Amino acid sequence: MRAELLIFMSDIIQLLPDSIANQIAAGEVVQRPASAVKELMENAIDAAATSIQLIVKEAGKTLIQVIDNGMGMSETDARMSLERHATSKIRKAEDLFSLHTKGFRGEALASIAAVSQMEMRTRLPDQELGTCLVVEGSEVKKQEPVACEKGTSISVKNLFYNIPARRNFLKSNPVELKHIIDEFQRLALAHHEILFSFVQTDEVVYDLPPGKLSQRIVNIFGKSYQEQLAACQEETNLVKVTGYVGKPDFARKTRGEQFLFVNNRFIRSNYLHHAVMSAFENLLPENSYPFYVIFIEIDPKHIDVNVHPTKTEIKFDDERAIYAVVRAAVRQAIGSHNLTPAIDFNADVNIIAKLSQGLSQSNDVYFEERFASPSHSSNQEHWEKLFEQSKNLAPPQPDPQVLRFESGVNNTSGSDLLASAREEKALVQLHQRYIMRQVRSGLMIVDQQLAHERILYEKFLNQLKNKSGESQQDLFPQPVALSAADFALVMEMEQEIAALGFRMEVFGKNTIVINGVPANLPVGSGKSLFEGLIEQFKINQSDLSIPLKENLARSLAKRAGIKSGQKLVREEMQALIDGLFASSTSNYSPDGLPTFFIFELRKIETYFNRQ
Ligand code: ADP
Ligand code: MG
Repeated sequence: MRAELLIFMSDIIQLLPDSIANQIAAGEVVQRPASAVKELMENAIDAAATSIQLIVKEAGKTLIQVIDNGMGMSETDARMSLERHATSKIRKAEDLFSLHTKGFRGEALASIAAVSQMEMRTRLPDQELGTCLVVEGSEVKKQEPVACEKGTSISVKNLFYNIPARRNFLKSNPVELKHIIDEFQRLALAHHEILFSFVQTDEVVYDLPPGKLSQRIVNIFGKSYQEQLAACQEETNLVKVTGYVGKPDFARKTRGEQFLFVNNRFIRSNYLHHAVMSAFENLLPENSYPFYVIFIEIDPKHIDVNVHPTKTEIKFDDERAIYAVVRAAVRQAIGSHNLTPAIDFNADVNIIAKLSQGLSQSNDVYFEERFASPSHSSNQEHWEKLFEQSKNLAPPQPDPQVLRFESGVNNTSGSDLLASAREEKALVQLHQRYIMRQVRSGLMIVDQQLAHERILYEKFLNQLKNKSGESQQDLFPQPVALSAADFALVMEMEQEIAALGFRMEVFGKNTIVINGVPANLPVGSGKSLFEGLIEQFKINQSDLSIPLKENLARSLAKRAGIKSGQKLVREEMQALIDGLFASSTSNYSPDGLPTFFIFELRKIETYFNRQ
C-alpha cells in the first residue's frame, strides 16, 4: 500500500498549516507558565510602558494577565502580532547587532496563542477606541472595537489546554509559582524605573514603585538587605559594570539570589559568576553564595544574544576582558563597603529606616493601616495581646534537664535505677552523638541525629499522606516575617504545612504567626522551626529534584530532629532505638546515610588476639 502511494503520488511534502507550525514552535518558546509571563512582560517593556501589572491564577495554569500602559497596537498590528516571525523590532539582519529591545524573533505571541485561549485588548494613545481580539489555539474567534485603557492587556487562559500531555507535565503550583517569581524578579530588577505589581490569586505578592536600584532591591528582598549592600562600579572603553553585591557575612547556603544582566537582559554565565566568586575569595564560608545584582553595559555589536530562544545565554567577543572588569568591580565594592556604609535610599529613606528598626515597627505600621478600617477592629485586641507577648518574651530555650519523652527517671531512687539497669541491656551515649547497645552479634552503634531524622521523616510523610497532623500549642507565638516570594510559597503549601502539624495565621503583609507546632517534637520555638523548614525546603528544591511532600517531610525531619551534641537520658535513647527499628527503612537516613552499624563480636575478638 505504502509503495503504491509513493509510486502514484510522487510529491508528498506539504507545508504544515500555521496552527500546527505554531504549536511546534511553541514547544521551544513556551515551556511553562513562567515562559509566557516573561514574554508578555518583555513585550510590555519593549512597548515603553511605565507601569506593568502581572496577574496570575493557580500559578499561571488558569490565568496569566499582563496589563501595560505602553504604546499599544493598531487594529492591523494587533492582528499581525499573532503571526509567526512578525515583529516591529528588527527589519534586516544587521539590526540583530544593534538590538535594544528584549524581543526580536516575533515568535512569542504566535506561540502563546497557539497553545492557549488568549484575549488581547490594545489601544494606541491617540485613538479613541481600541481593538479586542479573542484567539483560541491560533484561531481568531472574535475581533471587535472596544473601549479600553491606552496600552495593552493580554490574558492567557488555560495554557496548554489543547496539549494535555504538556499540561499534565506541569509541576505543582508552588514550583510553577517559583519560576514565575524568578522571571518577575529579574525583570523588575532590570527595570527599576518602571512600576511593577504582581497579584497571585488575589494576593498582592509585589507592589514596586519606580525608584532607584537600591530601593528596588530592598522592596523585593526585604529591608534586611539595606544593610548588606555594597555598591560596585567600574568602567573601561569596552564595558561598564554597575550594581550591588551583598557583604560576605550575608551569604546564603542556597543559590538563587545572583543576578547578572547584560544591557538589562538577565543572563546566566558560569564564567562571569566565577568572576564574582573569585573576587570574594576567602571571605565566604564554604558552600555559600553572595547576593549580587550586577549590570554589564556593552555596545551590542560585541555580543550575540541570538543563541537560544529563551535567550538567557549570550556570547561576548571578548569574554576575558569582561571577566576582569567584573572581578575588579566586585573587589572594589567589598573592599570599600566598610568605608561607605551609607547607600542613598533617597526619598523613601524614612519609611525604610523605620521598617528596619525591626519587625515590631513594621507590624505597627501594618496595624495602623489594617485596623484603620473598622471591620478589623474586633481582632485588634487579640492581635495586640499576642503581639505584646511576642515582643516581651524571649523564645523558650530547650532545657537539657527537661525530658522530652515520657519517663520515670526523676522519681526513681538510685538503687531502683541500678537494679533496672542490671536487668535491661545497657545503653550508653558516646560523645553525645552515638548510642551504643549490646546486640546478639556484638555492639550496635546508632547515630542519634540520623536515626531521629529517619523516624520523623516517616512520621511526617504519613501525616502528609493522611492529611492529619497533630499540633501542640506554641506558648510563645511569634511573628515570622517572610520575603514576598517565600510568603507566596508558604501560602501555596498551606494545606501541607497544616498536615505537618503547624497552625499558622496571616499576620500582616508577608508575615505569619505560628500558633501551633507539630506535636511531640523537642521543645523549641515555632518561629525558628518554621524558618528552618522553609530554608531547608528551598535548599532541597534547588539541589534535589524530589516531590513536594517528600521534600517537606525531609526538610522538617532534618530541622526538627535531635542533633549531634545533645545529651540524651536513657528513656530518650530507648525511644529512639525503638522508633528506628519500627520504621520501614531503619538502615538509612532520608539522605541515604547509614543510621547504625554493628561492631561484630568476632571482629572485636581479633583485637585481643584470643582464638
Ligand atoms: P517580538 O517581541 O520578538 O517582536 P512577539 O511575538 O513577542 O515578538 O510580539 C510581536 C509584536 O507584537 C511585537 O514586535 C510588537 O510590535 C507587538 N506587541 C506585542 N506585545 C505588545 C505590547 N504589550 N504593546 C505593544 N506592542 C506589542
Ligand atoms: Mg516579544
